[in-house]
Amino acid sequence: MQFIDLAAQQRRIRDRIDARIAAVLDHGKYIMGPEVGELECELAGFAGVRYALGCASGTDALLMALMARDVGPGDAIFTSPFTFIATAEVVALLGATPVFVDIDPVTFNMAPSNLKRAVEALQTGRPDLHPLPANFAELRPRGIIGVDIFGLPSEYDAIQGVADRYDLFVVEDAAQSFGAEYKGRRAGALAEMGCTSFFPAKPLGGYGDGGAVFTDDEALAERLRSIRVHGQGSHKYDNDRIGINGRLDAIQAAVLLVKLEIFPEEVALRQTVAGRYREGIADIKGLTPPATPAGMTSVFAQYSVLARDEAHRTTVQEALKAAGIPSVIYYPKPLHLQRAFAELGYTDGLFPVSEDCSRRIFSLPMHPYLTAEEQERVISVLRST
Ligand SMILES: *Cc1c(COP(=O)(O)O)cnc(C)c1O
Repeated sequence: MQFIDLAAQQRRIRDRIDARIAAVLDHGKYIMGPEVGELECELAGFAGVRYALGCASGTDALLMALMARDVGPGDAIFTSPFTFIATAEVVALLGATPVFVDIDPVTFNMAPSNLKRAVEALQTGRPDLHPLPANFAELRPRGIIGVDIFGLPSEYDAIQGVADRYDLFVVEDAAQSFGAEYKGRRAGALAEMGCTSFFPAKPLGGYGDGGAVFTDDEALAERLRSIRVHGQGSHKYDNDRIGINGRLDAIQAAVLLVKLEIFPEEVALRQTVAGRYREGIADIKGLTPPATPAGMTSVFAQYSVLARDEAHRTTVQEALKAAGIPSVIYYPKPLHLQRAFAELGYTDGLFPVSEDCSRRIFSLPMHPYLTAEEQERVISVLRST
């Protein structure tokens, strides 16, 4: 059994992908060829925003969004410690400081009540109110990165409420959630800028690295467009600002155009697969399947289950492995405990929910083509442990 079966998907669309790639080879416009603009149009339409900008990766999408807001030294960016390193890495790359905010134990996303306390603590210089990084006295609150972990949107209404109150900007890390919905709006469109990733294993993945930034704001779109190409001005060798080489390849855009055609159907299939897991796991003692709060849908980038404790998780994972079923831990170590962020001075115990989830969580095989029979096998192993 595959954890993610990209081959099954490829069998459906191989002919169309071959034809689209051949078209790129024929026209030869490998950098910013027509497929990029075509994809951006389709993506903006899908997400329901005015602008979508293709870029080289989800990491670059986040970096570009922060650069568009001139994030730099002295800026505090509030985010979840229970995410992939890229979310906080881009903050540090710009010389700014990630301020971690613990998650909700049900959604695994940043808890808005904690966020409010964290901003207040920083604003008033009170680490007794909420854990703060060692350099807190030098920081001012600037922005928030909401992370839609495992494909479930964060609580953007509440997050935006905190942002409005303290005059902060909000960026959505939709790397895992593209295709999900929040109160009738699509992931990627839930903040002033939304960032997604087309890494092959994401719900909408290419055959290489790629990403996109979404926005409704024309001025931000202009800045992002410039930042993507070395801070380009009106002329190719005219530079208005410091930027990056953050372009999406025409070949990846060609692949993504084909994958986007079947994406809505694949999102529905993911939800069917998740529904079957939920039904099978709901009454197994000691296992907690993921919840989807009212008003939201998830694309289940990962189907992540909580075991009773760390020892139970080990038992379950070993039983799955013995049955030839892969499982993966996302994420075994929250970001505040990573060596890369050691100088922020965070210690074990500061974010108990993230730390507890790291010890108990594991993800099951999840992709649109997982069959009911395969899932029965997974569930029967889970039931036996
Ligand atoms: C994958 C991922 C990213 C980074 O995307 P890349 O395309 O791999 O650079 C950022 N944030 C989250 C939550 C992710 O899962």
